[in-house]
Amino acid sequence: MVTTQDQTAATTGLETDHSFDPSTCRFETLALHAGTPPDPTTGAMLTPIYQTTTYRQECVGKDKGFTYSRSGNPTVSALERRLAALEGAEFCTGYATGLAATTALCLALLRSGDRVVVSQAVYGGTVRLFRQVLASFGVEAEFIDTSDERALITALEKPARFVFIETPANPTLKLTDIEVAAGLAKHVGALLVVDNTLLTPALQRPFDLGADIVLHSTTKFIEGHNATVGGALITRDAELHERLAFTRNAIGAIQSPFPAWLTLQGVKTLPLRMWQHSDNALRVARFLENHRRVTKILYPGLETFPQFQLARRQHKAGGALIAFEIEGGVEAGIRLMNSVRLCALAENLGAAETLITHPASMTHADVPPEQRAAAGITDGLVRLSVGLENVEDLIADLDHALAQTKGGGTSA
Ligand code: PLP
Repeated sequence: MVTTQDQTAATTGLETDHSFDPSTCRFETLALHAGTPPDPTTGAMLTPIYQTTTYRQECVGKDKGFTYSRSGNPTVSALERRLAALEGAEFCTGYATGLAATTALCLALLRSGDRVVVSQAVYGGTVRLFRQVLASFGVEAEFIDTSDERALITALEKPARFVFIETPANPTLKLTDIEVAAGLAKHVGALLVVDNTLLTPALQRPFDLGADIVLHSTTKFIEGHNATVGGALITRDAELHERLAFTRNAIGAIQSPFPAWLTLQGVKTLPLRMWQHSDNALRVARFLENHRRVTKILYPGLETFPQFQLARRQHKAGGALIAFEIEGGVEAGIRLMNSVRLCALAENLGAAETLITHPASMTHADVPPEQRAAAGITDGLVRLSVGLENVEDLIADLDHALAQTKGGGTSA
């Protein structure tokens, strides 16, 4: 049946080709458009939430690319195409959480008896997974300071299946030179996996520096609004991707369509948000650096940051995270975190709202105290994920909370 619209288009000759080639577009455009052409049946601008378990097949052996939503779902696939395009890669698999992505990565690539080299400073849940889960399956993880080239060379003298780096590291913001790590890993036939959660492809491009796989907790900046949990593994290698997709289906770790849809909306503003996060964080970092009660501050955008030159080379901006310590140690830090009003004491990072965290008792509580000490995660360390509020309001809140940390017998 020919519809009125068809007739109009035919008579006016207005039937135009609206497809565009993402490879010709820049990052901001990809964040909005990559992977999601308008719905072919209705023209809906937003990819629908395909809330379905299964897909009716045309005949035995013939389907439209989807069979069962544990193996693949159109909304999740749309997000996967978008994230792959943003990282400058071809392939992506989406997961229920960031840790589900790390688990799938390990189950896809590792066998009992394998060894991996991991950054000493990484998200606490990553340490817990290697130490308390995978170790009992015969996987050995050696945690080293991957920012130290000599330590990496030594660690790679023994066979390793992959090197897993998180840069900047959560929560110390220690950087690893991705290009150096990629070169050393390749030299011994190991893969390089980069957790790019803290900077996202808006500010750091691991594939251009030699990474084989990029991991994301999309829970953080990618979705950006404290609304979902999710994860992703991205690669340029078709064979690696096949193994990851196989494993995801085998273990049942795929993301659900609704969080994937929310993430598709959140990621549209990723470039804008990452620049604003970085501007706000630099202003807050400068305020903290000049505050007399702050004894130590780590922010990659500050000239005083120990790896400032590497940050300038490897990042487009400093990102949202700041780590700092205050006079009076642990107790003063706790008083600070209990005194903020606008910043929220919470376990997440990367949200539009500013979040303040005590890594030693919260995100990194399961990391053995010796590893925390070696990684520089002191009991007094405070992590701030600077959000998108007006920066003067944030500074006023921190100023007030810092004033509450005076006295109480804890000042130095
Ligand atoms: N990677 C980093 C750097 C993280 O900070 C986190 C969580 O905080 C994860 C991975 C794990 O992600 P998820 O909480 O989505 O499982």
